[in-house]
Amino acid sequence: MSQRDYYEVLEVPKNANESELKKAYRQLALKYHPDKNPGDKQAEDKFKEASEAYNILKDAEKRQVYDQYGHDGLKGRGYGGFSGFDDIFSQFGDVFGDFFGGGGGGRQRTGSDLRLDISISFQEAAFGTEKEVEVSKHNPCGTCEGSGAKPGHRPQPCRTCRGTGQVIRAQGFFSVQSPCPDCRGAGQVITHPCTDCRGDGQVLQNKKLSINIPAGVDDGARLRLRDEGEGGPGLPPGDLYVIMHVAAHEFFHREEHDIHCRMNLTFSQAALGAKIQVPLLDEGKTQIISVPAGVQSNDTHRIPGVGIPQLRGHRRGDQVIHFIIETPKHLNKKQKELFQELAEIEGNPIKETLKGFFQKLGI
Ligand SMILES: [Zn+2]
Ligand SMILES: [Zn+2]
Repeated sequence: MSQRDYYEVLEVPKNANESELKKAYRQLALKYHPDKNPGDKQAEDKFKEASEAYNILKDAEKRQVYDQYGHDGLKGRGYGGFSGFDDIFSQFGDVFGDFFGGGGGGRQRTGSDLRLDISISFQEAAFGTEKEVEVSKHNPCGTCEGSGAKPGHRPQPCRTCRGTGQVIRAQGFFSVQSPCPDCRGAGQVITHPCTDCRGDGQVLQNKKLSINIPAGVDDGARLRLRDEGEGGPGLPPGDLYVIMHVAAHEFFHREEHDIHCRMNLTFSQAALGAKIQVPLLDEGKTQIISVPAGVQSNDTHRIPGVGIPQLRGHRRGDQVIHFIIETPKHLNKKQKELFQELAEIEGNPIKETLKGFFQKLGI
């Protein structure tokens, strides 16, 4: 396999300076980083190729050899490229430290995860929905590439902490290490701040997102949107966690995948049995159910398969109807007569019972 020209690999001109090389490599490395492209052999090769090109060109001595004698010249001097990712990460510890954070084992550090709370209706949670949201997040400033320094300037090492970002103070018998007050722990100070981000290295941007909420999510459910969190200076973005807040329903309440509701029955419906119309969760739908004669308060009736859809699979829970027998509060004349007649037929059970009760007590 013939080797591609290193300048071609990094897509830079032959006279590219150090920062152009770094910028070019950074872009390619982010694009083809193994953590971003798991199992992708082509991306892996591109990542290795770019790493090798950058490793040579960033080194003035090796670059000179390459410019003069090409790939063969480098091989002649015992440079054989990288053996694998670990090799790249260990050699580029400092470079990757810049924008991958540590490099080391190749595990990628990311920017911050973000949290977004959204409110949805009971129905939306049950059947799924799509929500447009706007997330404001800090992104690396494009003008200064996150350095915070005006283009043409660089952050300078902080004098107070000599670039370590930490100062050591004596406190009683102990030495206490704390973040440097002058550079706020950054280890460097910006003498000429970038005008676009005022030296922060990052800018707050709003991003519109369309979130697909799957059918069956419950209150407090958490959706993870990969890479929609914040990037940091030189860091790939974290994730966005969307927390669902499901509004209560005036008629239904949810238990797992079942929905429960209460239906009132009159005395006569309960005594004689009835056909009643029950609202279902599906908007506008109802079902007629038969209530058996003699139904008691808190008896239930189950309609299978009309509850909450399960997150995976197409089965739905049930709807459970709890019957409540209503005692009439205001009787008209006719109703009163009928109840009195009923009481006589029943032999005035209230008085009878009381009589027996008092007899037992011997009163
Ligand atoms: Zn900036
Ligand atoms: Zn400092």
